[in-house]
Amino acid sequence: MKLKYTGNSSAIDVGYGQRRGALNQTEYECPCGKGTVTFEKDDIPGFKTINTLVDCPECEEKYDFHKGTAIEK
Ligand SMILES: [Zn+2]
Repeated sequence: MKLKYTGNSSAIDVGYGQRRGALNQTEYECPCGKGTVTFEKDDIPGFKTINTLVDCPECEEKYDFHKGTAIEK
């Protein structure tokens, strides 16, 4: 299932010197519509991590989230 983009996204400057980069956040509505799912991507040399923040306990239990989509567990 594709998640609905809420229109909220941000890029925060993080790090310093050689390790300077951005933390990109993109917010989507969760499948039930009561909460949000935020995908957080570090774009820092040497650090490529992706975090998914699910602001809805029901959907967090039911789904796995990958880059703007929800997959039933
Ligand atoms: Zn939900």
